[in-house]
Amino acid sequence: MTPGIRPLIAGNWKMHGLRAEGLALARAVAAGAGGVAAELLVCPPATLIAAVAEALAGTPVAVGGQDCHEREKGPHTGDVSAPMLADAGARYVILGHSERRAEHGETDAQVRAKAMAALAAGLTPIVCVGESEAQRLAGEAEPVVARQLAGSLPEDFAVQGGVVAYEPVWAIGTGRTPTETDIAAMHGAIRAQLTRGTGGPAGARVRILYGGSVKPGNAAAILSQPDVDGALVGGASLVAADFLAIAAAA
Ligand code: PGA
Repeated sequence: MTPGIRPLIAGNWKMHGLRAEGLALARAVAAGAGGVAAELLVCPPATLIAAVAEALAGTPVAVGGQDCHEREKGPHTGDVSAPMLADAGARYVILGHSERRAEHGETDAQVRAKAMAALAAGLTPIVCVGESEAQRLAGEAEPVVARQLAGSLPEDFAVQGGVVAYEPVWAIGTGRTPTETDIAAMHGAIRAQLTRGTGGPAGARVRILYGGSVKPGNAAAILSQPDVDGALVGGASLVAADFLAIAAAA
């Protein structure tokens, strides 16, 4: 963790949750949130954002989206804009998740445009980056992530309080994670890039989350690494007790 930065524990529900179970999960997270030092965030599917935001009003648990369109409105069937997410009660939005990059062909330039739209709508973007297994085995993990960051983050990202999530693609949903040393090295490299150039002091305050098979059993070891300022949690965020146990480790 980084001294002086409040960690963020974010749950990415992905395409999980009908109304009753989503609301029950959100309420269970809120019920256990008292005394948790970290900031808590749940990112339900778009259909549940408004209902979950309503259920969590007055609790310390924030709500976020999992994607947004780069435009405010227009002829984009099936898409949801950043102002719509904000209007539904979201405060954050996950952008450039590797599942969107892979399944929807999202490019760094598109992620950057979406991040700009999110900031303009008053949302905090959580921009995801991460290498594939082949790229790590080829020794290219750091340059790949550096390129994704350079292409995906708007100029004023750090100043505006944006969040970065490092999620090695091969660690997502697999039960495998990089070594603690590798996580610390990557987060250190990301921090160095954020503080270079125009980033400066604001780059030092950006929260850098780790994501990919974070579970109650490995959370403390991962979250104690330098420059790991929280976690983006997929599978384990669907069980309130597991999500809260991860948060308690932060
Ligand atoms: P996981 O997913 O925790 O299930 O590995 C993380 C993510 O994709 O954000």
